[in-house]
Amino acid sequence: MAKYRMLRDLLARDGCFRFESAPFADPATIELAHDAAYVRDFLNGALPEAAIRRIGFPWSEALVKRTLASVGGTLGATCDAFDSGWGGNLAGGTHHAFRAEGSGFCVFNDIAVAIQWLRSKARIERAAVIDLDVHQGDGTAQLFEAEPDVLTLSMHAKSNFPFRKQRSTIDIELEDGTHDQEYLSALDAALPRVFDFEPEIVFYQSGVDPLASDTLGRLALTHVGLTERDHRVMTAAHAHRVPIVISLGGGYSRPIELTAEAHANTFRTASEIFS
Ligand SMILES: [Zn+2]
Repeated sequence: MAKYRMLRDLLARDGCFRFESAPFADPATIELAHDAAYVRDFLNGALPEAAIRRIGFPWSEALVKRTLASVGGTLGATCDAFDSGWGGNLAGGTHHAFRAEGSGFCVFNDIAVAIQWLRSKARIERAAVIDLDVHQGDGTAQLFEAEPDVLTLSMHAKSNFPFRKQRSTIDIELEDGTHDQEYLSALDAALPRVFDFEPEIVFYQSGVDPLASDTLGRLALTHVGLTERDHRVMTAAHAHRVPIVISLGGGYSRPIELTAEAHANTFRTASEIFS
């Protein structure tokens, strides 16, 4: 949890970002992507013990507020993306959340909620998710598996969590120890397929757990490689004039400062490309 504060402090020091507190997402909006009973039981602290265990955090009022703000932050960033080309949430990217259950530190799937919210308001028809967290975006993949208007790309470590993978529109599985060059080549091959789909908005789950120092990652990327990755994703969105919403995703380096620095680089790259 320490990385969130560190990241905000790093970006505040840069002096080129405007921060806003994330509003709490409305439960009715969350229910556009999630089962209503699951949403209600989580908010009321009534989920069964096994369901809480699968999420991985103990339930508390503070967790409820944090979770609602995390989804609200992505919704706010989505509005910013339509206004200025990009928006960012210094949280979110909770891609292991399914329709009626959470897992892997994810309660609600902020990206899926944002996409369903835009579609419910007829703001868009087609959306794409570029999920470069080292773990497969299994919740997002399953939530949109039967939806031809939402393309999901997940590029992840093959041998890593989740051990039962779901089917994204495009899955790219990487071997343990994958380095910058192989990683970037795989990304270069995948990105044109995303933009050929002609999405009206792209959600970028920019997890930095492919970093070599990550304790849950298994890949071997450097900070330079990750920044290059972010640069390629954002340059492609910019060139195609597709708004992009950046959410944080995972990062568990030891020491955690390495993760905070990598997340900060993602937002610095965005600021450079979009300003
Ligand atoms: Zn992850």
